[in-house]
Order: sequence, then C-alpha cells, then structure tokens
Amino acid sequence: MKFNIENSIRASVKRLKPYSSARDEFKEFHQKMIFLDANENPFENGVNRYPDPHQITLKKEIGNQKGIPIENIVLGNGSDEILDLIFRAFCEPKKDNIIITPPTYGMYQVLAEINNVDCREAVLNADFSLNEKHIEKEMDSQTKLLFLCSPNNPTANSLEKDKIEKIMRNFKGLVVIDEAYSDFSNQESWVNRLHDFPNLIVCQTLSKAYGMAGIRLGMCFASEEIMVVLKKIKPPYNVNQLTQQKALELLKDQEGYQKRLQSIIQERERLNNELEAISFVRKVYPSDANFILIQVDDANRRYNQLLDRGIVVRNRTTQIHCENCLRITVGTPEENNQLIEVLIKLEITKSE
Ligand SMILES: *Cc1c(COP(=O)(O)O)cnc(C)c1O
Repeated sequence: MKFNIENSIRASVKRLKPYSSARDEFKEFHQKMIFLDANENPFENGVNRYPDPHQITLKKEIGNQKGIPIENIVLGNGSDEILDLIFRAFCEPKKDNIIITPPTYGMYQVLAEINNVDCREAVLNADFSLNEKHIEKEMDSQTKLLFLCSPNNPTANSLEKDKIEKIMRNFKGLVVIDEAYSDFSNQESWVNRLHDFPNLIVCQTLSKAYGMAGIRLGMCFASEEIMVVLKKIKPPYNVNQLTQQKALELLKDQEGYQKRLQSIIQERERLNNELEAISFVRKVYPSDANFILIQVDDANRRYNQLLDRGIVVRNRTTQIHCENCLRITVGTPEENNQLIEVLIKLEITKSE
C-alpha cells in the first residue's frame, strides 16, 4: 500500500479550523501603519510586537542556503517541538503506533508516551546497522511513523541509505529522518530526496553544528502537503523574535560556521586516534557526528573518575548494545587536550 496523506492525518486535525492570529489577518506589517489590532503594548522596546508567525525572512535565508523552497519548510521551538507536532498531526492516541530503532535519541519514545501512542522497538543490529526485517515485522496498518536518526545518537554512525530507501518505498506511514548531526557527515542529506519520497520528513536543528542550542530553532523539511498540516496545528508564534533575529544573524556568517565546523571535524579525528591509544578504552566507534562513542572496561567507574576531575561525559551503559559505553562530545582543542591528559593519568591510577 502506498502513502496517502489524507488517510494519514489525525481525524480531529483534519476537522480543525486553525486559530487565526492578528498577524495572519493583516500581513503588510512592514508599512508605516498604526497597529491597533493585536493588543500589543505600543511603546517600542525592540520586542513589544508579536513576531512573524511564518518566519518568512528566516525561512528565505535557510531555503537559500539549502536550496529548498519556503513552502517545504516549517520551523519550531527546537526539533523537539517539531517532533511533537508530527505526533499530534498524524497519530491517533491509543490507536496508532510508531516504530523507533534503539539505541537512539530518547525523545521519540518520551513524545510517544506523552501523546499516548504505542511505541514499538526494532533494535539496531549489534554493529548499529538497521535491522530492516525487524522493522517490517513491527509494522502494521496502524503504524504511522518510523523514526530514523542518521547520524544516530548515541552510536554516531549514519544509517544505511539503501535500506532506508527500500523501507520508505514499502511503508505507507511517514518516515522521519532526524538529521541533527548531518552537518558533520559526508553523507548526502535526505532533504535532497524530498521529491522522490512523499512520505519523507527530514528534521534538522541549529543546536549542533550551527552552535545555537540556546536559541531553540528546529527545522523541518517535507512535501507541501505535509507542511500544510503541520502549519495548521503549530502555535502561531512558536518561534520568538529574538530567536529569529539571532538565527538570521549567525546564519549569514558562513565563514565562521565553516571554520568552527572544520575544527570540530578535525578534532574528532584527532580524539579518535588519541582515545584508541588509551589502554582501558576497548573500542572507539567511527563517528559521523560531533561526538564519539567509546567502550571502556567499566563505564560507571570511568564516568565517575572523569567527573571527579571536572569532565562531564554521557554514560550510555544502560542502553541496548551500549554496555560500558561513554558518549563524549568533541570540545575545543584545549578541552580535548585536557580530556586526553586526564585519561592518560587514569591509566596509571590503580584503584578508585
Ligand atoms: C541534539 C538533538 C536534537 C536537537 O534537538 P533541538 O530540540 O533542536 O535542540 C535532535 N535530535 C537528536 C537526535 C539530537 O541528538
């Protein structure tokens, strides 16, 4: 069966008449007019007016940089808001289900629980590759969403392109590919394949490579038909004005962005080599992201030793296939030097 948007939308969303904001009903707000329509405070302080609910200027900049028409873009208060919108647009609580592929980003399951939607697991193979047979086995007529994180968090690998294509072709639900880390990878972004797959949604973020985790800006790319549904249910002013301004400002600094990105990638390769030389590091997993997953002799012990010396990493040992694994974000060259220095000292620390 093929994907059909009309059959995929939640019934209450289909019926919904969206809220129409003051800025929706009168749009030419660049003109010198007197605005007495939105109950704003008239005294100027830079933020006294509601922000553009459609974020047109920012979308144009993002669209230009990525070669995507603004009709195929929805922005949110972080990717997390966008992921939640996708649940609310397409999943009927207590009836529909979604599939995730652990070990992966924890928010998909949390959002499923919040939305009272059954979350099924198709665990990755031990080498963190996709198990497509397992995914097919979990799918049924009520499966609305499949979440694929590529490059995957916390495993750092990109998921296999051929398998994803095959799954997308045979799945009548939506495939959400979370590309929070794609800027750090050489793999082609799935945003270039929107025309080939009407059931594809790609999520990206300014939180990682772009260095703007603090402003909360998530980006979603999909067909116009899908975007119409998400726009219908998104809160009108979900991206605040300060965020829109700061994102625009930093996005225009392409040179600075590239410089910092290349530094992180370079440092990742250096850290990779340095970590492999540490005696209690059993395995360093290859990374397409801005973090490295390592397997150590005893994750709890090493985690606490690092913490005692002022270095915070993420202990992932309880996740499936991640026994004794730590996830380490690539820092500045100085921070990475300190990490390596501490690890080398720990090599000769006997008991602790
Ligand atoms: C960090 C991260 C995000 C980013 O979420 P924001 O809400 O945009 O900050 C999304 N997906 C994954 C897998 C992540 O690791």
